[in-house]
Amino acid sequence: MKQSPNNNFANSFHLHILSKLCGVVLLFFTFSFSVQAREVFAADSLLSEARQHNVPDSLRFYQLLEAARIYAQPDIFLEKRNTVDSTIREALFIALANGWEKQLLGMLNANGINERNQAQYSLSIYWHQKQLKIADSLGFINDKMRAFNNLGVVHRRIDNYRQANDYHLSALAIASEINDEKAYVIAANGLGNIQYILGNYEEALRRFRECLKFEQQQNDLLGVAINLNNIGNVFFKKGEVTKALEYYLLSLEVNREAGSERGVAICYNDLGNVYKYRKEYPKARNYYLLSLELNESIGEKYYLAISYINVAELYILEKNFDQALNYLERGIATAEQTSALALLGQAYDLMYIINKERGDYATALEFFERASAINDSILNNTISRTVIQMQTLFDRERSESQIALLRHQKELAELQMKDQKLINWIGMSALIILMISLLVGLYVIRLKNHSNAQLQSQNDEIEKAQQELSLYAEKLLLAKEEAEKHNRLKSQFLANMSHEIRTPMNSIIGFTDILENVIDDPQKRSYLESIRSSGRNLLLLINDILDLSKIEADKLKIENTPLDLRVLMQEIKQLFSLQLDEKFLSFDVYVDETLPKLVFLSETSMRQILFNLVGNAIKFTPQGGIQLRLLVLESKKPMAINIQLAVKDSGIGIDPEGVDKIFEAFYQHHADSSRYRGTGLGLAITQRLVNAMHGTITVDSTLNKGTTFKITFNDVLVIKEVETAEQTPEELRSEKIN
Ligand code: ADP
Repeated sequence: MKQSPNNNFANSFHLHILSKLCGVVLLFFTFSFSVQAREVFAADSLLSEARQHNVPDSLRFYQLLEAARIYAQPDIFLEKRNTVDSTIREALFIALANGWEKQLLGMLNANGINERNQAQYSLSIYWHQKQLKIADSLGFINDKMRAFNNLGVVHRRIDNYRQANDYHLSALAIASEINDEKAYVIAANGLGNIQYILGNYEEALRRFRECLKFEQQQNDLLGVAINLNNIGNVFFKKGEVTKALEYYLLSLEVNREAGSERGVAICYNDLGNVYKYRKEYPKARNYYLLSLELNESIGEKYYLAISYINVAELYILEKNFDQALNYLERGIATAEQTSALALLGQAYDLMYIINKERGDYATALEFFERASAINDSILNNTISRTVIQMQTLFDRERSESQIALLRHQKELAELQMKDQKLINWIGMSALIILMISLLVGLYVIRLKNHSNAQLQSQNDEIEKAQQELSLYAEKLLLAKEEAEKHNRLKSQFLANMSHEIRTPMNSIIGFTDILENVIDDPQKRSYLESIRSSGRNLLLLINDILDLSKIEADKLKIENTPLDLRVLMQEIKQLFSLQLDEKFLSFDVYVDETLPKLVFLSETSMRQILFNLVGNAIKFTPQGGIQLRLLVLESKKPMAINIQLAVKDSGIGIDPEGVDKIFEAFYQHHADSSRYRGTGLGLAITQRLVNAMHGTITVDSTLNKGTTFKITFNDVLVIKEVETAEQTPEELRSEKIN
């Protein structure tokens, strides 16, 4: 069966370690060389052994590493550095060939820690750097992280906080990447320590509490103890001594439980500090001495130096300078081995105080200078500390401001989201409104188009109708003109005809008059009478037709002449006296006194008007009487008067319907018109004559009570009486006729 490389390595290792170590031990005792020479010799022989070709890899691997470790001793390392490098390289090749990389890295790590515990910090750094490089080149991330953390711890010890911080941060990054809680805690613890040293107590406390939680979860007692102690340190620095005391006591207990003497020693020291702070010096000294003993027994030089110095300081406080000096000298010796500058500086300061107190000023001055020199070098560190501190603060502030910025951005984004939502909402609403408006608009446009079309068609129809109407109106006008023309022609024809008929009619009537005197036979005379009566009727009709036709054919000429109206009115009464008597009717004439003797009016027309009206009044009045009245009213024109004539009867009257129609030609209102001889033209002729004379005629009638016709002539010119005084109207008339 084939053995695994590890087993092979382990077996060979145990066998050869025994034989070869015996050789080394023999050599050590046989030759009384100096330590340095002995070590070099041992290493050389190991190396030459390893390089023999029959040596198995496992032995060679061990021999090489052991040689390297021996060469890397404080006194010879500077000289043998290259040999150490090449030896490790050789070991690496063997490890690579056999898969022992982990073992190699583990040994490098152990060397580093060992040197650190021996306060050989530069050597410790050398081993961890080697570990880091090899782990990195092999891609062994866990070992790389472990190297980072250990480098951080070493640099912290030598007050190189910047480097320490960087290494721990690198370790922390890997630990969180690979989720290695243990490594994470180591890194965080280291970072907490740095913050503590730099005075960032809150930050340190945060880191330590974080670590404590992890360690408690892991149930790592040592880890818990370390972090309890660290938290105590922070409270102590913050001046919260009671809290610090509680944590230190807790840590002490856990350290005891974990069996960590180193931890217990540290706790004793811290407790001493608390009591020193409280000025309870015996108690403080007790703890410092306990710590000192323990550190001495476990060879913890750094803390041992601290313990010496602390005890010395207590003695100084109690003015026991001898004792103080005793401890201080041992403290300085130990501190010098650890190259802890701050510790040394503190010890030199105390030496200065002791010598000064003792009056040894020369020695005091010497230590003062030494302390100053160390302080100067520490100052440089302090500067770098300040830089780190500032950087840490800056980083913290930056991360805080980044968080604030992120928060602000988040709020802004939320606001923007809200805004966006609002904008979206408004946009959507606007879109909906727009769409609705668009639809409404489209509908309105369609409606408008429709109504426009309707309006257009209506317009067209109206236009068409208008055109038709105007055409019709034109036609009507033409027809009217045509009709008027025809009417005129007809009237003219009628006038001509009437005139032509009147002449033979007059002959007929005239001959009947002559025959009346010639014929005696009663029957023949009655025939003759009929002919004469019909002839007269016909003549009357013809006369009326002639008058109307003349008027309508515009042939009637109104010729105003001086007229004595009183005389004319008496003449009319005279003319109808026979008929009045026949019917036993009264006839009253009233003429206004102010009526001038002569007025300028057409006598023919006036006579015909009065003839028609009085004739009708007698005709349609069975009893009672007729009144003929003339009133004179004032005119606005000079030398003129307004005349109102009224013909009033107490006759049968006309109903309201008839009143509107009686001036129409050929209209006869009364049904039994045959009783009343007439043509229905009288009033038509009268109205046209009045109008032709620029006058007006109205009728007012009550059925069975009587009728009144009123005629008004305005602005009738008056003729002065002087001019006509010597002439009677008859004379004037005759003159005119002639
Ligand atoms: P006529 O020749 O028939 O009298 P007119 O034109 O003179 O024609 O009168 C028209 C009609 O008016 C008459 O037929 C009659 O019915 C009515 N009329 C006229 N004058 C009077 C009146 N004074 N009283 C009653 N009816 C009258």
